[in-house]
Formats: sequence, structure tokens, C-alpha cells
Amino acid sequence: MVQLVGSLRKELADSLSACRVLVVGAGGIGCELLKNLVLTGFKNIEVIDLDTIDVSNLNRQFLFQKKHVGKSKAQVAKESVLQFCPTANITAYHDSIMNPEYNVEFFRNFMLVMNALDNRAARNHVNRMCLAADIPLIESGTAGYLGQVTVIKKGLTECYECQPKPTQKTFPGCTIRNTPSEPIHCIVWAKYLFNQLFGEEDADQEVSPDTADPELSWNPADTEARATASDQDGDIKRVSTKDWARSTGYDAVKLFNKLFKDDIQYLLTMDKLWKKRKAPLPLDWLEIQKLACPQEVTGTGLKDQQVLGVAGYSQLFSRSVETLRSMLAEKGDGAELVWDKDDPPAMDFVTAAANLRMHIFSMNMKSRFDIKSMAGNIIPAIATTNAVIAGLIVLEALKILSGDVEQCRTIFLNKQPNPRKKLLVPCALDPPSANCYVCASKPEVTVKLNVHKTLVLALQDKILKEKFGMVAPDVQIEDGKGTILISSEEGETEANNSKFLSDFGIRHGSRLQVDDFLQDYTLLVNVIHCEDLEKDVEFEVVGDAPDKAPTPPSAQEDKNVANGNKESAEPSTSSKAPAEQDDVLIVDSDEEEPSSSTMDVRMESGGHKRKLHDAETGEASAKRQRLDQPLAANEEDDDIIALD
Ligand SMILES: [Zn+2]
Repeated sequence: MVQLVGSLRKELADSLSACRVLVVGAGGIGCELLKNLVLTGFKNIEVIDLDTIDVSNLNRQFLFQKKHVGKSKAQVAKESVLQFCPTANITAYHDSIMNPEYNVEFFRNFMLVMNALDNRAARNHVNRMCLAADIPLIESGTAGYLGQVTVIKKGLTECYECQPKPTQKTFPGCTIRNTPSEPIHCIVWAKYLFNQLFGEEDADQEVSPDTADPELSWNPADTEARATASDQDGDIKRVSTKDWARSTGYDAVKLFNKLFKDDIQYLLTMDKLWKKRKAPLPLDWLEIQKLACPQEVTGTGLKDQQVLGVAGYSQLFSRSVETLRSMLAEKGDGAELVWDKDDPPAMDFVTAAANLRMHIFSMNMKSRFDIKSMAGNIIPAIATTNAVIAGLIVLEALKILSGDVEQCRTIFLNKQPNPRKKLLVPCALDPPSANCYVCASKPEVTVKLNVHKTLVLALQDKILKEKFGMVAPDVQIEDGKGTILISSEEGETEANNSKFLSDFGIRHGSRLQVDDFLQDYTLLVNVIHCEDLEKDVEFEVVGDAPDKAPTPPSAQEDKNVANGNKESAEPSTSSKAPAEQDDVLIVDSDEEEPSSSTMDVRMESGGHKRKLHDAETGEASAKRQRLDQPLAANEEDDDIIALD
């Protein structure tokens, strides 16, 4: 058997075979990593993954074969590794690392933890567990040709959460409905339209012109009045898009003329919108059909990479409406279609509708291929990238086990060589952020919300779990009485869920002590009561740091506004993101073409520049954003990432 033992110092080789390590994730990076670890001489490895093997994994997760489809990734990875290294001692867990069984004591069993994960929630959690257990963590991720490895050591380096990560951002509805300026706006609109016509109707996915656009009025009171008015008569007069489409029998020509002519003409009447931007050009079905020849086709090669003309897309629109109509009819009454980028008629529909709208708003149309990758924000997972990153993880692991944590680096794998002809660029590790709400000595945050409108359940699910990454929070109000607002013990405080925070005396300046016992994590939450949060915003984290946060209660009541919300000012690097264990990596990008630039593939990044290690500076990566992981939430329902 090939093994590197002979090339390592004896002490190091001995410590490799003696030490116990944990690999979290047995997917794209995990398979490569497990193979590397045993071939390097690691003997005691535990691996955990809750996934099972999918056919689509087989092109890069080489520990798996066709016969393994449907089986546990962790278990099969173990068996495959044992075939070429029978002396290894591997324990496999087919389970979630967020399961309470894997507590701080469990983490303390290891010299080192290596993440090979695909989602932010699990990364946050392992970060906290390793901080709590004070075990070094090697964090990694890939997206297409890009990759990153970094080392996290309590007290010495930044933790995974030191840099604030932008929250999910959405485009203002009026950008989507009235004033699209980028192809992604039209793609989002087209996907909403699909849902409105064929899928589940969602009030948040309105596609018709928005008369409450704040831009239509310079007088905010006027806008408000208009918004109220339109809400009111909207409720009365508006027929749902789906009902209307159904009443026409999904007549493609009628749909076309309503969406691309009448609605656009209506938009043109909102003349304030077009004072400073190019006005849209309505399309008429008949006029377009007169353009006898199916117009120019640009782009060569594969059909998916061609851009058809307006006539071509009008035809595609018509055909796809017909196909989807019959699919819907086949499913019977009340049925709904679910948008899926891999469903050809659905993708045809979105391609056609998005392109027609792009044309109307004077944008260059896009190929089906481009639209698919934007609609799904897909960056393909690449086996070689995973292999490089897994190799780098082992090199960092060797430094840690040699006691040279100071020598560890964040290493970026770039798509293009830098001027020094290097693809791999190491950067010095940053020290922990004093303001981190996870690894600071006394983590504290300030949250602005309306205490009369925020339910206890929303505090738990949206703020503490979703925003602050807790698994099972307990909340106590610092009201002198120690009122327990939320208990992680089942059955203790469920009755509170449907009550408002103010029902428990929580008001401006209240402080909540939040504990997650599994993560051994305590967070102090300062509440700022606010009546005028933006529409659809339930809460805001004020500042990104305790030392910038206002000191409640009374002294600084007005100051919170000045702190602003840094995140909301950030560029649109946000994301969301369902992905299977890196089948597709879903990344954040505000680029029109996610693949066009290495710099701009930012995955749920903090958007903070990384300092480069002196010797290795290459400007290509100087601008490179921190490439935190392809996040990937658990759900797979929504591929479109709506950006500001
Ligand atoms: Zn931190």
C-alpha cells in the first residue's frame, strides 16, 4: 500500500497514527479527504454525514459506485477506504452533526476536526462546537474552480462567524415588477410568473405593475396613501393572475399581450419612473409574428448556448405555455406545477419570458444556458477542485499536528494564475474579531424590532435559530425576575410562542440572555423597540458588534439609528441556498454571469477583503472575497436568489 509515512518525520508520523480526527461530511471534499488521510498515515478517523448517495454524486465522489446509490455516504465511504487501507480504524455515523449526541464532550475526543460541509448552518454549528471544545478546526469549501481552506483556532484566529455574513436579500418588489435593470431581475420575474400561472400563488411573487412604487411620488405621505389605496382596491378588484389565465384557457397570445404589451403600456403611464431611465418598449404578438424570418440567432455551438431573437422567444413562450397548460390539465383540478430548472418546459418558459422582458427593458438577451445557471445560481462541482482542496486540508492538518499552528494559512484556490503564476494563494490568518457575536468573550448583539408585533416564535425561529445559528435556544428575560421566555425543553414554554414580546414586558432597552447549551454558547440580546421598520422587515441587527451597539436601556435611545445596518448597505452578495451535498454549489453572486470572474463568486461571503501574506501577494486574490461555503440550506424549493 502506498503511504507517505516514510516521508514524514518520525514523531509526526507517530502522532498521525495515534491521533483521532473527525471529518464532517463525506461528499465531494469528504471523499477525497478520507482517501488522503489514510494514505498520509492517519489511522483513527471518525466520519459523519447524514446524506445518502445519489447517482449525481458518482462523477466526483469516487468512494461511491453505482451499486451504492441510496446507501449512507459515511458508511460506504468507510467501507471503500478500508478496502485500500484495511488497518485504518474508521467510525462512520449516518447522522447530522447537529444532533445533540455530538456534544462538546464528543468533540473533545479529537485532536482536530475537518469540515467538508456544504451548508452554512452546519458550518456555524461545528464552528461553535470546536470553539466550545477548544479543538482546532479546518474549514473548507469549493465552488466550481474556486476553493478555500482555512484554520480556526480559538483565541488565535478568526472563527467562521467573525466576519458578518449578509442575510438573505431580496429585490424590492418594485424593481422586479416595474423597473428591472439587470437580467437577473427579469429572470426572477419570469420565475415568479411561472408560479403565478402554473404553481402555487404567492403574494410575495407578484408580477404585475406595482402602483405603490415609492419612486412614483416624491412625497412619502403620498406614496403611503397610494399604497394603502392600491392594497384596498387590490383586494376587491384584482383577479388572480392564475384565475385570469385560466379564464382565457391559457391562451398564449392573450397572455403574451397582457404581460408584454398591456402591462408595459400601463408601466409607461407611471411617467416618473422613466424620467431618468430608458422607458420600456411594449411588444405586440402580431407585430412580432410579422417579422417573418425567425430573426437572428447569435452564439454558436450548442443549442442551449444560442440566443434566439424576439420572434424566436415569442414562439418558445407560446409553445411552453401550451405544454405547461396540458401538464397542468393532466394533473387534474387544483393541481400545481413546481418550478424546476431541470424540467425542460419550465425552463423554456422562464427562458422565453425572461428574455422577452429583457428585450422590453433594453437589455441584451441571454442564452438558455446562461439563464439556467442564473436561475439556479449553479456552479458545477468539479472533482479536481475538491481534490486540490482536500490535499490542502491535509497539509494544514500536518502543521497543526506538528504544533505549528502559527504557520497555518487561509489558502485560496483561484481560477486564473496570479502574476506570480500561482493558482494557490496563501494568506495569513486574521486574529479573532473582538466584536464577533460568537467568539468574543461576552457575545452581545442589539436587535431592532417591534415588541408589539414580534411573536416569541419569530424570536426563536427567525432571530435566534436562523440569524444567530442556534440549535436549541433558551431565553431568559433580564427583568430582575428571571422570566423564562423560551425553554429548549419540550412542553415548557410552547404556550408563549403565539404571544408578542411585549406581553412579557419586553420593551425598548430590555435585555435577553440566550443560551444554547449544546453549543455552550451564551448571547446577550439587547432589544431596541422600533415602530418603523421597513416593510416586510421583521427585525434588524444593529451594528455588527457589541461595542458599536447602543448601550441600553435609556441613555442612548436615539443612537441606534446612527449605527445603521451595515449589512443592508452591502452589495448584493447574499444568498440562500439549497444544494445537495455539493452536486451543485449554489453561490451568491451579483454578477450577470456567475462564471465570468473569479473575484465575484462570493459565497455567502462576509464581503471583507482578506489580507494576503506578504510573500505571496498576488493582486488577483487581493480582491478575492472570502469564500465561505456554498451554503445550502436544507430546503430545495427555491433556486432563484433574489438580490438587491
Ligand atoms: Zn468569531
